[in-house]
Amino acid sequence: MEREKEILRYAYTQSSFYQALLQKRKLSIEDLMEDWTKVPVVDRRQMVCADECVIPSSSQSSPEDNQRIYEMSSGSNGMFMGIPWSVKDMISSLSPLWDCRNRYYGLKVQDKSCYFHMYPDFCDEGTARDPRSGRKDLGFSVLGLNEERIGRIYQEMCDYEPRWILMPPSVALLFANYIGNGKKKGIPSLKCVELTGECVTHKQRRQIEIAFHCKTVNIYGSYEMNAIAYECPEGHLHLLEDNVFVEIMDGEKLLPDGEEDDIVLTSLHNTVMPFVRYSLGDKGKISLKKCSCGHPGRILKLTKAKKNDMIRVEQDIDIPPYEFTYAFQCVMDSMGVEILQYQVEQTGYYSYIVTILTKDRKLLEDKEVQEDFKQIFQERLCHDFLRKGIYTFRIRDELPSEKCVKKMRTFWAFKGDEK
Ligand SMILES: [Zn+2]
Repeated sequence: MEREKEILRYAYTQSSFYQALLQKRKLSIEDLMEDWTKVPVVDRRQMVCADECVIPSSSQSSPEDNQRIYEMSSGSNGMFMGIPWSVKDMISSLSPLWDCRNRYYGLKVQDKSCYFHMYPDFCDEGTARDPRSGRKDLGFSVLGLNEERIGRIYQEMCDYEPRWILMPPSVALLFANYIGNGKKKGIPSLKCVELTGECVTHKQRRQIEIAFHCKTVNIYGSYEMNAIAYECPEGHLHLLEDNVFVEIMDGEKLLPDGEEDDIVLTSLHNTVMPFVRYSLGDKGKISLKKCSCGHPGRILKLTKAKKNDMIRVEQDIDIPPYEFTYAFQCVMDSMGVEILQYQVEQTGYYSYIVTILTKDRKLLEDKEVQEDFKQIFQERLCHDFLRKGIYTFRIRDELPSEKCVKKMRTFWAFKGDEK
């Protein structure tokens, strides 16, 4: 049986979230096994808002519990979801990525790398590392990246001599500016800089490549799936089809290669939290082109993927918008409130409108509670400029209609004073 069907059977017999879907559609597991096109398409919004749990009860209490990797992701639309992986699944899932790294750049699991994570440095829980390396690579927080910290991190990276660095483009650009402005030397050990998590333009890539004196490589991935596609030296994003089963769909209708629409994914490895026909909210098409690099994966052309503006606090200072995600996580942890989704709109250099979707609306509308909320939120922003901001909170307990959800973003920058 193909792996996607094994995962399908597993998910629909073990997870109450998927079982509820079956009941709603009056289908049986055998209907789906016989005809894959009947398998429902799901998304993060459905999983976050569902009453049923996606994680099968069998894996909630498995003895593997102490061998768990837990990712907290706010996704491309600011909707929070925890994504657990077992170490064993994580290793099989990462293996096609390692094949690419090795094939194109000679990189091995044992090689030293640097990466950037979304937590503060004092509680480094980033997991860009491969569990097999058995060693902590040099990880840095994307929070509070002011010029002084960027300088310190750059020096640490130079001393560490990594073979590659994994970073979001917005962070890479901050470093490229720093290196360029100060005429800093490159890092001779570097084979490539892997860019992930955001769209990047050709011009921005050139800027990063000139600063770091090495190639940039695009990785398309998510916490739910790990790496979905890896860019070959010919500039094609090859699907890692031993890790994910990829379909392009218009709603529930499967489209042939060459047509553009929603990218729908089935993780072939995550058994702790199964994702079957899961739409990330990105759009793309599968190219009919053949590539000369020899990679067997089909070529993906991303046409619409995560895009976030930079926070612009003064004419020349840009901050990647990850700071908000962490501040919201702190509020959730310390107040025990549940935030399902957030979106931030910057309306001036120091003013922001924050919209929160929560199941705890009544509680958060209490004046005192809201003051606590604001205080914790603002204290946990790592960047001085953001701590000084004026925040207006809007609390919602209902999702806006599907149409008016501004899907691909968590943050909109102030456009009033463009350079
Ligand atoms: Zn290729």
